[in-house]
Amino acid sequence: MTDLKDAIHAPDATWQDDVRRGVRHVRDLDRLPLSPAERQAAQEAASRHKVRVPKTYLDLIDWDDPADPIRAQVIPSPGELEEADGELGDPIADHDFSPVPRLTHRHADRVLLFPTYQCAVYCRFCFRKESLTSIGRGYTREAQEPALAYIADHPEIREVILTGGDPLSLPDSALAEIRASIEAIAHVRLLRIHTRVPVALPSRITSGLVAALQGRLMVTVVTHFNHAREITAAAETACRTMRQAGFVLLNQSVLLKGINDSVEALEELCRELMYRLGVKPYYLHHGDLARGMAHRRTTIAEGQALVEALRARLSGICNPVYVLDLPEGGGKVPLGPCPIEGRDGETWRIRGLDGEVRTYREIVKA
Ligand code: SF4
Repeated sequence: MTDLKDAIHAPDATWQDDVRRGVRHVRDLDRLPLSPAERQAAQEAASRHKVRVPKTYLDLIDWDDPADPIRAQVIPSPGELEEADGELGDPIADHDFSPVPRLTHRHADRVLLFPTYQCAVYCRFCFRKESLTSIGRGYTREAQEPALAYIADHPEIREVILTGGDPLSLPDSALAEIRASIEAIAHVRLLRIHTRVPVALPSRITSGLVAALQGRLMVTVVTHFNHAREITAAAETACRTMRQAGFVLLNQSVLLKGINDSVEALEELCRELMYRLGVKPYYLHHGDLARGMAHRRTTIAEGQALVEALRARLSGICNPVYVLDLPEGGGKVPLGPCPIEGRDGETWRIRGLDGEVRTYREIVKA
């Protein structure tokens, strides 16, 4: 790794330097301290899902720890080569709900818009990895036109969610163009951006990027931190820049076996998100059925036990909602354990945070 540890920390280093000095191609894996067996498995897995890791994110890895939670998220592993029966190429049916290219319309008031199928970092657990490989294209104005025309023709659409691919991996000029095209559609009220950039390439959150997104629309940025080790001084600066621009910041994490599937890991993550970054933990996703990911999934019962323990430890503002994005486009449904034990007429039996069941009698005016 010594040849990768160079001028990125120089005061004039830019986010482009950060990308350039990271892992960008399969051949860059040769520079990492992997064993020959690991290297071979990594190269095979990388042929199925692209590999890219910015330098600063790579520097977070403790190479002496084979189970390092940063490493597990970005370095291809042999587990990815084992596909289980029932796993899916398009786990939440994006393509079935796509009336025009680069757009998914699953719920009436909002759409997903895919301005690019490229990312600043490629996460091994990504549920869109097969689209990223098979479509793989970046941004062009022409490619967006059918999707923008569709949004303009559907007045029920209130929110446009830029996802991908990672929208914040695009140049400022492209972001400004996308934002202006969307805000020209009068019925759209909110621009939402789903991104791993504040986690893996925080230097990309510049004043120019923020300015490109500011306009008529309320902007919500949904970050994707999965572990407290990702919450660095650089991530803190990036989130502060976005908060000061008036963006609403939320986070969605994925529950990943061997990475964050303990009460302690999730507790620290959620507290640091809220208290240090000012980012509200929004969703904790149960693992979807992306191919080659059985080694990273927990059971639902394990997830429920974790969130039950979290609910007792964390304040409401720090607690994410545990959800599953159902196959076949069924949408996100909450999986958290239900505290209602039963009812007898107007009297409900409800389990408290201390585990004790208490009664609540409904008293309402007729
Ligand atoms: S940044 Fe998002 S879309 Fe890209 S690989 Fe990671 S999870 Fe998938």
